[in-house]
Amino acid sequence: MPSVITSTATLPPKSARAGSAKTSPVRDLLALTERPDVISFAGGLPAPELFDLDGIRDAYAAALSTPAVLQYSTSEGNARLREIVAAQYTAEGLPTAAEDLLVTTGSQQGLGLFATTLLDPGDVVLVEEPCYLAALQTFALAGSRVIGIPSSDGALDLDALDAAAAAHAPKFFYTVPTFQNPTGRTHDLESRERIAASAMRYGYRIVEDEPYRQLRYSGDALPSLAHFAPDHVLSLGTFSKVIAPGLRIGWVRTTPDIRPAVTIAKQAADLHTSTIDQAAAAEYLASGRAASALSRIRAEYAARRDAMLSALPSALPDGSTWNTPDGGMFVWARLADGWNATTALGEALAHDVAFVPGAPFYAGAPDERTLRLSFTTYAPERILVGMSRLGAAFQTDR
Ligand code: PMP
Repeated sequence: MPSVITSTATLPPKSARAGSAKTSPVRDLLALTERPDVISFAGGLPAPELFDLDGIRDAYAAALSTPAVLQYSTSEGNARLREIVAAQYTAEGLPTAAEDLLVTTGSQQGLGLFATTLLDPGDVVLVEEPCYLAALQTFALAGSRVIGIPSSDGALDLDALDAAAAAHAPKFFYTVPTFQNPTGRTHDLESRERIAASAMRYGYRIVEDEPYRQLRYSGDALPSLAHFAPDHVLSLGTFSKVIAPGLRIGWVRTTPDIRPAVTIAKQAADLHTSTIDQAAAAEYLASGRAASALSRIRAEYAARRDAMLSALPSALPDGSTWNTPDGGMFVWARLADGWNATTALGEALAHDVAFVPGAPFYAGAPDERTLRLSFTTYAPERILVGMSRLGAAFQTDR
């Protein structure tokens, strides 16, 4: 056996960027939610029993009829899949060609590609306050300075957006316009127009992240921000919430000016997204079974949302508030005065129920009374059991 060589020099430290991405104390608490007896409203997990195993198995079998689906392929992605997604955008009123799209390994990779393509260390990114956690991590790893734009009464403070844009010359504003993670909030038509107008006036881009757009249970669909400012808006999409997250298939819709750079970034990241997974996704969508499965998912999630909303008044302390999302996966609540959601999580776990405190989702000073509840993971009856445990936890002396 050759022996290991003894080193006399110390290793260089990790990069400053890597050091800036924090782990959170909430992560340790959330590890406890994995105990099988815990009903966890913490994770944003789609319901596994609604995954269309038969339809997806058939799609893989059909895709595997040619060796080409196991070969290296182009960085832009499967042509048929891009045609199908482009046709969906076009049908929703946003004319889109397959060339406008690049397939990514989940929309999370799309976020990383935009960060690589657009951000230099020190650049400013504007985000909604609170914001999707993994987006905050992506922007921190890119070395950017993240500035949160507050909301009042559940609506983005558009004057604050303008003021931050004027003061900081941001590279882009990152937004989840529809059924946001973590709040479930949707920007109304007027806000969308004003956000787009702000980007045009102050000369910044918008990155709109739309994983939940198709999970609408009530109300009317709203136009994408790209509709109002086509040259300023980059969009992210994914099949994670409407087919299954394990597929890891998402896409970016880019403007022509940054397309070559995004393609090179994708090439450098992983050459391309799995060819077989892309081909199977295209088969599955073309078969029409994805649409039927999505109708079932929507109907079931609507019932789960309603179950959670019906139980909230008796579960949370008097004086707490929450929203009523028209879709997506989350309800956002604010506990009554004097409560702290991170402390309350400890009590909830003692009652075998969990949620995520809102604090880690803030780029700036957190509102410690906020929390996120996901309503998609369990059937309505189980949700009601979890909510009654939550009610018991909040009855306990603080
Ligand atoms: N953006 C948002 C707002 C999300 O909530 C998520 C998933 N939780 C993602 C992006 C990443 O999704 P994907 O599985 O497509 O990478």
